[in-house]
Amino acid sequence: MFHSELRALFLARFGHEPTLFGIAPGRVNLIGEHTDYNDGFVFPGAIDRGLYIAARVVEGKSHVVSKQMGDGESFDASSVVPGGGMTSWSKYPAGMAWALRSHGELPNIEAYIDSDIPIGSGVSSSAAIEMAFGVVWNMFAGLGLTNRELAKLGQVCENQFVGVNSGIMDQMASAMGKEGRAMFLDTRTLDIAYAPVPNGVSVVLCDTKKPRALTDSAYNERRSQCEEASQILGVSKLRDADVADLEGAKPKMSDVVYRRARHVITENERCIQFKEALDAGELEKAGKLMRASHVSLRDDYEVSCRELDEMADAAAAAPGCIGARMTGAGFGGACVALVHDESLEVFRAATLSAYDKATGLGGEAMACCLVDGARIVSSLP
Ligand code: ADP
Ligand code: MG
Repeated sequence: MFHSELRALFLARFGHEPTLFGIAPGRVNLIGEHTDYNDGFVFPGAIDRGLYIAARVVEGKSHVVSKQMGDGESFDASSVVPGGGMTSWSKYPAGMAWALRSHGELPNIEAYIDSDIPIGSGVSSSAAIEMAFGVVWNMFAGLGLTNRELAKLGQVCENQFVGVNSGIMDQMASAMGKEGRAMFLDTRTLDIAYAPVPNGVSVVLCDTKKPRALTDSAYNERRSQCEEASQILGVSKLRDADVADLEGAKPKMSDVVYRRARHVITENERCIQFKEALDAGELEKAGKLMRASHVSLRDDYEVSCRELDEMADAAAAAPGCIGARMTGAGFGGACVALVHDESLEVFRAATLSAYDKATGLGGEAMACCLVDGARIVSSLP
């Protein structure tokens, strides 16, 4: 369906037909938050909110247009490098071009993108752009890269070109999603165990509509606190420590560093236990782990905010809710809830009414399907 719309937009803008279409989904993380840059465990799934791309190879520079954000800066895919001071959203495609060039020469392209992934709501619109351009260039240049390799290059783009020092979860989720399944991902080895969402259960994204506040400094601060804790514990990453190690080292750490490490270490354990609970069909246990994750993010890691707390509380108290927590980096954005299918409508109404009463922000609750990862959807003649 989107093909015809996107083709028309492309044609109107560039004056000829696109030759390739691609899609890359957003993602929701069920549990395992702020663990990926500590080499830990995460449990995301790709969702049926996606970023669509139409493209064609051209001579001259690359031109990129977004239905949501307009024209990006033009750039030369064969020579663009970090540090060029790009200010528009073009830094994502340009950064992908730079990262992909380590695997071969790239042509310049014209590209038009359209997306229904909320931007800055913790469902990773940024990884979706990276993966959408990744699959398109991979095909045009005949690089033969796997989606797993594209995910790694997406992280290189985001870390070294865009300048956001994020972990690998978002790109892996957008690239490696599987229909109907969430992925238990070991971010150290990139091993994935896919797990179906239990029958009769829906994944619901509860958007606070509170734009994420400027998070870069808080994010970098958390990262360095994790590094400090690792050093004191004598491990390379917090993944390698357990609660007993942490308690033993407590006298050597500040209270803040201790609490940051406690979040990461216990969140890794919760993520493993959540997987076991889902496998065993123990929904009540899974729900309790989601709640404990939220509380730990709120109190120990201090990345929640009033709106996320109100939404998580409203969702947890609503009919049919199995568990709810903030999802994504925090400071705004969305919560994720697992909800019994038959209660979806009452869940939505009760959650949003309690949330609106507390914040006046309305909010939005969307049931999501889990879908396949980034791919080319059809080649046109
Ligand atoms: P998120 O949690 O959604 O990934 P980020 O801050 O990491 O939030 O990425 C958001 C950025 O990604 C936007 O500021 C913009 O540069 C880019 N972006 C996301 N969606 C689009 C879109 N549809 N068109 C153009 N740029 C987009
Ligand atoms: Mg992002």
